[in-house]
Amino acid sequence: MYTIFTDPLHRIAYATDASAYREVPQGVAFPENEQDIIYLVETARERKTHLIPRAGGTSIAGQVVGNGIVVDISKHFKEILEINKEERWARVQPGVVLDELNLALEPYGLFFSPETSTSNRCCIGGMFGNNSCGSHSLVYGSTRHHVLEAQGVLCDGSIEVFKTYTIRELEERFGNRFWETESNLLIQNIYTQLIRWALDEKTVQLIEENYPDKNLRRRSCGYAIDEVIEDLHNTAKPLEERTINLCKVLAGSEGTLTFITEIKVDLDPLPPKEKMVVCAHCDTLQKSFLGNLVALKFNPVAVELMDRNILELSKENAEQSKNRFFVEGDPAAILIIELRGETRTEIDALADRLEKALMENEEHLVYACSRVYGSEISKVWSLRKAGLGLLTSMKGDAKPIGVIEDTAVAPEKLPDYMADFAQMLENLNLSCVYHAHISTGELHLRPIINIKEAEGLRKFREVAYQTALLVKKYKGSLSGEHGDGRLRGEFIQLMYGDEVYALMQDLKKCWDPLQVFNLHKIVDTLPMDSMLRFEIGQKYAIEKELGGGKTYYNWKAAFDECKVEGATGAKNQLHALMCSIEQCNGAGDCRKSNLIGGTLCPAFKVSGDETKATRARANVLREILTRGWESEAFAQALDKDKSILKSKELAEVLDSCLACKGCRSECPSNVDMTRLRSEILQQKYDVSGMPLRSFAVSRMATVEQFGHLVWPLYNLFASWQFSSNIIKRIINFSTERDIPTLSRVTMRTAVKRECRKHKCQTTKGKVYLFADEFTNFQEAELGLTFAKLLLRLGYEVEIPKHVESGRAAISKGNLKLAKKFAIKNVNLLKDKVSEQTPLVGIEPSCILSFRDEYPDLVPAEQRNEAKTLAKNALLFDEFIMREMAAGRITTDNFKPDAVEIWLHGHCHQKALVGTEKTVAALKLLQGAQVHVIPSGCCGMAGSFGYEKEHYQTSLAIGEMVLFPTIRKTLAHADDVTPCIVSAPGTSCRQQILDGTGVHAVHPIEILYRWVK
Ligand SMILES: Cc1cc2nc3c(=O)[nH]c(=O)nc-3n(C[C@H](O)[C@H](O)[C@H](O)COP(=O)(O)OP(=O)(O)OC[C@H]3O[C@@H](n4cnc5c(N)ncnc54)[C@H](O)[C@@H]3O)c2cc1C
Ligand code: SF4
Ligand code: SF4
Repeated sequence: MYTIFTDPLHRIAYATDASAYREVPQGVAFPENEQDIIYLVETARERKTHLIPRAGGTSIAGQVVGNGIVVDISKHFKEILEINKEERWARVQPGVVLDELNLALEPYGLFFSPETSTSNRCCIGGMFGNNSCGSHSLVYGSTRHHVLEAQGVLCDGSIEVFKTYTIRELEERFGNRFWETESNLLIQNIYTQLIRWALDEKTVQLIEENYPDKNLRRRSCGYAIDEVIEDLHNTAKPLEERTINLCKVLAGSEGTLTFITEIKVDLDPLPPKEKMVVCAHCDTLQKSFLGNLVALKFNPVAVELMDRNILELSKENAEQSKNRFFVEGDPAAILIIELRGETRTEIDALADRLEKALMENEEHLVYACSRVYGSEISKVWSLRKAGLGLLTSMKGDAKPIGVIEDTAVAPEKLPDYMADFAQMLENLNLSCVYHAHISTGELHLRPIINIKEAEGLRKFREVAYQTALLVKKYKGSLSGEHGDGRLRGEFIQLMYGDEVYALMQDLKKCWDPLQVFNLHKIVDTLPMDSMLRFEIGQKYAIEKELGGGKTYYNWKAAFDECKVEGATGAKNQLHALMCSIEQCNGAGDCRKSNLIGGTLCPAFKVSGDETKATRARANVLREILTRGWESEAFAQALDKDKSILKSKELAEVLDSCLACKGCRSECPSNVDMTRLRSEILQQKYDVSGMPLRSFAVSRMATVEQFGHLVWPLYNLFASWQFSSNIIKRIINFSTERDIPTLSRVTMRTAVKRECRKHKCQTTKGKVYLFADEFTNFQEAELGLTFAKLLLRLGYEVEIPKHVESGRAAISKGNLKLAKKFAIKNVNLLKDKVSEQTPLVGIEPSCILSFRDEYPDLVPAEQRNEAKTLAKNALLFDEFIMREMAAGRITTDNFKPDAVEIWLHGHCHQKALVGTEKTVAALKLLQGAQVHVIPSGCCGMAGSFGYEKEHYQTSLAIGEMVLFPTIRKTLAHADDVTPCIVSAPGTSCRQQILDGTGVHAVHPIEILYRWVK
């Protein structure tokens, strides 16, 4: 049985999608079956409200934003019901994610071919709702072309199957020439209306004259009346044999006509394996429009565009900066041209001819071409797909805004249309970002506008209006794939004329006379510049809470240093903090499931709960810190006299975050929730005090330092069940976990002793070891092993004077303390550590605080010193790789042996450095087979997994990929080859032990075991 959640957390989390709009809904429901949807339809009618069907919530035009009840089907309508290999179709529930469907279809050699850049989280229901398509629409068309059947609930609560029916079949159901008489039956009226239009010459002519070019592949503007009646007015056929399939008009109807509960789609065979991407570099945009027309003559399966702005932004994104390898020079635009064929020779020959045509012409359309093959192709597409997300990572209030981002005209008209468009932009004094599906004449055009200012808002409307006029002039479509929603609905009348618009209004009235489904979308929309996320002259509720806008991190520095053209920077620290939250554009990459991979976002992955996704966190932070208690979501709140920082909703979203930094690298908009979380936690503690547990965890190293003086006693107390349970209960840790015990001597002492013995045997330079607080007290043996390894390899080793890294304090939001550690460490190490004498760490999260947090934690005057130190603070594997590159460490230093290593990377390492270097370091052992476990976060995340209320979630996260992979691996291991599970993170190793009983080792221990 469903519940309608009306609490502020749900209402805020569902007040936006990936558009510029925000409207707080009355409630949110998660129906479990069709019957629940029927109840919801009845409830909506009774309460005189409307239902907003929602899937992944990645719509860009505000389709799933409204004041009714948001009905999220992504949680329970996730089943693939049937796959028919022979007939090549699949029957699915609407909440099935596109990439997950295609993973399930792969063994059958089939796939669902319309794709979107959001394929890893958008659902088939949402694709149907928006008539989505993607880079390969040139070949595969849009969702409308692939939906065979659908089932849905109409506004009167009846269930209907929509598929191809002949007029004869409909007459059998409703009676002979049923469209000539009136009826009380809703579904009959729906067919009647369309048949009447199709049989009326004047209406047909009206539609033909006013709809976009028939040969335009991308048309998602307004209701597709032309498509649904196409066969009905096919006079070549006898009337009773003509057909109608309502799916044609339901595709792109944006949840305004019916609630879909099942969809049957046709499937395509997997494309041939042999493919190649030619990346054609143009020095002007205009040349890329012309280059596209040349490329189209060579039968490409896709031609996509990326302009200089996107390429620049990709430099600043941790994930995408790795995918720019194909860029040569400083192109104004790159055309990505995908070619397919049966053999490599065949496509190479085609590419030769294509490149010749592009480069050897009078206009010199292209100055360089790079070819990409095999698995590298996915990196090119990953960069291209991240484009839209990257755009919102532009720092400051001015953003490449989604307003005219979806226009499509016939490709041959594109050069002229673009020339007119550029002139219009010049008149409005605007610059623009260009990218995406150029092959089909669709470009995502994003003018850079600050809609927080009146002038910007005026331009927002003006550019929409003038573009609509231009698209009409070129007989294009205002929306090619993103749909109308509340953004473009206002201009449909202008695009199609009054009479066609009236038909569309009549269509909505006929389907939904009771006004149950997604009101004010497509037709009768509100003004496109109303209900926006940002208000003119936006004030921040949090301003009152922060004494003089004081923040603990230096948020502004990144804005000051951002070199991207058009970036407006930040006025002060508070503004920079708020802009960092507002970076979230709602695109929903943080909704990827564990089947898709990556780390982002474990809290969502394990629960499937939107309120636990990074997006919800950003939405709640934005709403609470901006509007505060004034938000409509808090209309019923009783305790508005207290600080907004004490609100329950804020606590809830911060609490479910593991601070794993998954978002730091994988969110295309660079939303760094780990950092936001610790800043807001400290701000919160400033008004309400720090909980005992957070204090204790952030002071753990101090406790251990004193405990070390009486270590046998400490260990007895920590490991004896009775006493350790007392401590766990006091600080609210799970009694299922063991408190870490202390090493007999610290790493510092052990290493010092060892180094004394080896003083004269070092030749390769000096290494400063960072004795992080975990290794130093709890795993001194590991620290000693690293020192021994380095000594054996010929290095001089020293542990310099330093204090703890402050990692625990950062993760618990004790930033006052973390700042002290950062300042001290920079002061203590700045004159010692250099490129020649780097600081090398064992525990990734600790050494990486030098790189990721310190420069923004220390005072401005220390920033440069901190940045220099950061450059020379290396993870153990980075150091080894550096030395390998210099020829100072080689495979000759290690004994060859057959060994199988299964590596689980630490989240912070994955976010900031990647695991490639650990793999390369382990491959120093000739004969080692290294497998990276495709796990995200292990679930422990520092103290998160120890905390009583998080214990089960923590294990459940481990159970998603990590634990089963380890169990399976060890179960299949043979007796001959040693099989080792390795993890550089101390809490990861503990989690693996607790979850599987397997002792994972640090990669350093493996290298030491095989060093000569
Ligand atoms: C970064 C980014 C890139 C994008 N790239 C592309 C692209 O390449 N191609 C493209 O086509 N789009 C693209 N989009 C837009 C969007 O991702 C797609 O339209 C996607 O298919 C929407 O799917 P969703 O599951 O998020 O649906 P939602 O946004 O949740 O819903 C989409 C529409 O479907 C309706 N709906 C959902 N479920 C039902 C149901 N059960 N019954 C009735 N109606 C329903 C909703 O009411 C809504 O109107 C992009 C968006 C972003 C943010
Ligand atoms: S947090 Fe990042 S990934 Fe998630 S919706 Fe926001 S911008 Fe997208
Ligand atoms: S830090 Fe991790 S848990 Fe927190 S929002 Fe980012 S990805 Fe999610």
